[in-house]
Amino acid sequence: MVAFRLSSRLAAFEGMVRDLARNVIRPLALEADRTHSYPASFYDSLAAMGYSGGQVPEEFGGEAAAGEPAAGSESKKRPSSSNRLMVLGSEWLAYGDPSVILNIPGPGLGGPPVQITGTPEQKRRFFAPFKPGQPVAWGAYALTEPHCGSDAKAIRTRCVKDGDHYILNGRKTYCSNGARAVWTVVFATLDPEGGRAAQRAFVVEKGTPGFSVGKLESKLGLRACETAELVFEDCRVPVENLLGGEEYYQRAGGTSFKTAMKTFDKSRPMVAAMAVGIARAAYHELRDFVSEGHLGGRPILRNAPLRITLATMRRKIEAARLLCLRAAWMADHGEPNSKEASMSKAYAPQIGQWVCSEALHIMGGHGAQRERFVEKLYRDVKVFDIFEGTGQIQRLVVARRLMPNIRIQ
Ligand SMILES: Cc1cc2nc3c(=O)[nH]c(=O)nc-3n(C[C@H](O)[C@H](O)[C@H](O)COP(=O)(O)OP(=O)(O)OC[C@H]3O[C@@H](n4cnc5c(N)ncnc54)[C@H](O)[C@@H]3O)c2cc1C
Repeated sequence: MVAFRLSSRLAAFEGMVRDLARNVIRPLALEADRTHSYPASFYDSLAAMGYSGGQVPEEFGGEAAAGEPAAGSESKKRPSSSNRLMVLGSEWLAYGDPSVILNIPGPGLGGPPVQITGTPEQKRRFFAPFKPGQPVAWGAYALTEPHCGSDAKAIRTRCVKDGDHYILNGRKTYCSNGARAVWTVVFATLDPEGGRAAQRAFVVEKGTPGFSVGKLESKLGLRACETAELVFEDCRVPVENLLGGEEYYQRAGGTSFKTAMKTFDKSRPMVAAMAVGIARAAYHELRDFVSEGHLGGRPILRNAPLRITLATMRRKIEAARLLCLRAAWMADHGEPNSKEASMSKAYAPQIGQWVCSEALHIMGGHGAQRERFVEKLYRDVKVFDIFEGTGQIQRLVVARRLMPNIRIQ
């Protein structure tokens, strides 16, 4: 049986985030884009409202997400709805302003590796800064290096065991929230020629000797987001910060590469949903613009090709949203979802780019004005086809899942 209606809990959550996006975030978005940041009080108020960038598991101090059964309750065995909540929240926060979603205080992309691979003690330690009621804090995730992003097995940041420490040397690039993070999950290798088996993940805490922040990127879009270069020079990381502990890597198949990839199964539908939110925002901007405007004395909306374009936009946005919700539903039910997660990520950013481009084009010079929201959306949407795996990489993942015995070069 397929149910296409959101449960009342999910629908209530969606309505709440939609109101926040429209009434609180949107009025601040253009100024944040111009100044490259939101005011600190904005983050405090988001945290006070219970919003967290990445979930803190309930057993490690987080709160049950809206719609989730409380820990220990009879209904605990029911499937989770946390992935669908994250997808819906991602869509509507991005609708308000795509920069906000990457800025929300919380463990961020660093959360899933800690949750997936961390020992109970590591989860207790590293989720502690994000418990409700604490000052706002960020976590981060550093995989990409100046010479490699898509080919994650090619990382060169070295880790060498030295007594009860590992010594890290190398550079990471494009790390979201990397400068302000209280800790960052850093992927390194024992041997750059050793492929996946040689990779390890560490939680590197702010202030660790040998760890510093390099340049902050100035970007085309998402200008209110912090994107940092991280530098490791003889950085001494205690063995207790090796994610999963030594035993994890001694077990067959214990490699941080799996940790990095499993993170994507949860995060890709969310990132795809952000592109859906951007597409919906551009669609609404265009719809409102043409509803008010006139062309040659006639209301623009009387123009049949334009009406068809609007209908096509809406159809593609809904299709993209369903792909995201399906991948999230599978994750909530504990089903393998790599293929479906990549399908959503391959599709939604393309739709987002097309809708933003068409909207700006149809609005003409008005669309290109700096103070118009659609101009910002047009700049913001591109990166959703780049980070968390580019569109090409998603299509390759899907092809490999469909044809596992054929290697595509
Ligand atoms: C705003 C922003 C935030 C980011 N945040 C983070 C973060 O928090 N943590 C992090 O680790 N990284 C982050 N990234 C990095 C991002 O994940 C990488 O940019 C992305 O994975 C692409 O890697 P690359 O830039 O090295 O491009 P490349 O991998 O060099 O790709 C360049 C081009 O080649 C294509 N290509 C590559 N390989 C293949 C192939 N096998 N087949 C066909 N085409 C291929 C790609 O699709 C792309 O078009 C961020 C990037 C940005 C822009």
